[in-house]
Amino acid sequence: MEWCVSMPKVELHAHLNGSIRVSTLLELAKAEKGDIDFSEVEHVIVKYERSLIEVFKMFDLIHNLTTDHNTVTRITKEVVEDFASENVVYLELRTTPKRNDSIGMSKRSYVEAVLKGLRSVSSVDVAFIPHNEDSKSLFSSLPTITNDKCNGVARKRIYVRLLLSIDRRETTEAALETVKLALEMRHLGVVGIDLSGNPKVGEWTTYLPALEFAKEQGLHVTLHCGEVPNPEEVHNMLDFHPQRIGHACFFEDEHQRRLKSSKIPVEICLTSNVRTLSVPSIDVHHFVDLYNAKHPLVLCTDDSGVFSTCLSKEYKIAADSFGLGRREMFELSRNGVEHIFADSGVKEDLRNFFNSVAKNME
Ligand code: 5GP
Repeated sequence: MEWCVSMPKVELHAHLNGSIRVSTLLELAKAEKGDIDFSEVEHVIVKYERSLIEVFKMFDLIHNLTTDHNTVTRITKEVVEDFASENVVYLELRTTPKRNDSIGMSKRSYVEAVLKGLRSVSSVDVAFIPHNEDSKSLFSSLPTITNDKCNGVARKRIYVRLLLSIDRRETTEAALETVKLALEMRHLGVVGIDLSGNPKVGEWTTYLPALEFAKEQGLHVTLHCGEVPNPEEVHNMLDFHPQRIGHACFFEDEHQRRLKSSKIPVEICLTSNVRTLSVPSIDVHHFVDLYNAKHPLVLCTDDSGVFSTCLSKEYKIAADSFGLGRREMFELSRNGVEHIFADSGVKEDLRNFFNSVAKNME
């Protein structure tokens, strides 16, 4: 496990509110003066196993406790610190901009609170404003690199980019509002759009106009795809050809073939898939088939707080369950760089960084 922690990693599928520290969630629940009775929710928060339905109930509880500007800022800061502490060097954090008129929150002010959280991180170096040719690279600006294991430098550095999520409960208009906001906030590190939320809710045709608009405008798009059996939707999503998809659990043979020939990278969330019973057990996880086919893959956490995991743990699970050695894990992590949504300057900096630490990771 220690080696997995020391390895530099790329996280491309992390939901902000799902990545909340359990200690923070318990603290917020305890302090809540409103509708929530702590004694009733404590066991829900600390529960280990959760079905997909329970997971979405858990998100309603989390949102009740976190959706105010200060808390959004706080959890953003903590989540970035947590990923950086385990040597995640590039984090694409996704979150659903929320509107709550009763507290004066608009989708824009929600995202501004997230940005404030990024700015408030002081224990690690965070780069979230997009590169321009004159700006220094995060890693190549020093002769040797972050990772303590490699060179004894304790201060961590992390690139962060944001994806704005469309929740499947939203209308076409609300989805379009999110895409417009993402376009307006590109200069602040928003690189794309995600479609997420309860997969049993909503229709593909509702989000399609917003997703097409995002694509036309040059935003990257990733879709939660095949989390429940819904072959028609999987078919439509593959037709849309997003830049990445998340999960890809319930794929019929024909869709699996199409996925492989399309080379659309898949964000793999092992613990999440097992806990929510989207796969029957880890040993039959589709990671193996896709990995053997050399399909582009990235290991991710999904919701590290909700599923009590972290990215290092996900690599350890892959090593233990599928027999990956250090070299394979490092290559898997390094290949993740090719699928990030940030600009080519960041990609190049990360490629150089991975190259520079490769020898030390054997
Ligand atoms: P937030 O967007 O509020 O920062 O993060 C929590 C939200 O992400 C949830 O309410 C849900 O919309 C989405 N989410 C988190 N985990 C999953 C998942 O495993 N599947 C899907 N479809 N959506 C998820």
